[in-house]
Amino acid sequence: MHRQYRRVQPLTRNAQPPRWVGRANAEGAIGNEHDILPDVPPEPDDIDRLESRLLKKIARASHDHLLIEPGDKIMVAVSGGKDSHVLLHLLELIRRRAPFKFSLIALNVDQCQPGFPKDLLPNYFAERGYDFRIVTEDTYSVVKEKIPEGKTTCSLCSRLRRGILYTRATQLEVTKIALGHHRDDFIETLLLNLLYSGQIKAMPARLQSDDGRHVVIRPLVYCAESEIAHYARAKAFPIIPCSLCGSQPNLQRQRVKELIANLSLENASVPNSLMAALENVRPSQLLDRNLLARLGGPDPAPPVQELPETNFEHELISVENLIASANQAGLRG
Ligand code: SF4
Repeated sequence: MHRQYRRVQPLTRNAQPPRWVGRANAEGAIGNEHDILPDVPPEPDDIDRLESRLLKKIARASHDHLLIEPGDKIMVAVSGGKDSHVLLHLLELIRRRAPFKFSLIALNVDQCQPGFPKDLLPNYFAERGYDFRIVTEDTYSVVKEKIPEGKTTCSLCSRLRRGILYTRATQLEVTKIALGHHRDDFIETLLLNLLYSGQIKAMPARLQSDDGRHVVIRPLVYCAESEIAHYARAKAFPIIPCSLCGSQPNLQRQRVKELIANLSLENASVPNSLMAALENVRPSQLLDRNLLARLGGPDPAPPVQELPETNFEHELISVENLIASANQAGLRG
């Protein structure tokens, strides 16, 4: 399996030793199952406690954002990465324990990447007794044809995959589509938008598609990536590496990931603080006049009309005249 590891250097002398960070794809999923983890097998008790913590976080997310409701038929998108494996496994545990009925369908999109282990997920799903579907669509060739060699292919690849998910969701008449994005995806997206897009936004835990026909949910919103990686490793899920497509890593996301990791070495609460910020927005302390208007403030002023250059010159001359007049008046006084 192809792995790429890099050291994240601490910013201060007294910080903890460097940690190991794996390669992330465009959707923020780290490309293998061993990121940020010490190479020490976890104790069974630790894993039970971790599992219970993760289940509580999913339950809280579901409560806060109405993610899992009675009668739901939830399609879980399983790419074979650690996040989607953990999501499916924990949702199944919740399904068995929940006081109301809902159902799950695991769906994997085989995008025909070279070396994709076609039997791995079907065998795993069948062994575990999941209701599942495998959809084979050669988006890999489409992406290779459209994107020049050496460029990041994730954006088009993700859009094509999302389209396939929506089509299948309609055919299967599911009520929701569950994706494996976790807390770190949310805060990295927030910082990426702040730093590179001039927008304050992350992603929603529950999203209605533009045409109103689909609801996408992200039940792992409160779960840290390190917890998910730890749990996935302990459970030995059959992980498929995301490096099969040969895409270049998204360098901006990589930088943001490193930034958060470095700041966390100085202050471990940085990721949670970023997450808390998403739940604690103070619109009155921002400058978005449209947002303030939507919240009942004054309507935004109409856009400023650019003055023609001649008028501007004229205005400057007028100001100069005004100053001259004032000076004269002062002299007279
Ligand atoms: S191009 Fe590769 S890394 Fe990017 S989203 Fe597609 S499969 Fe994942």
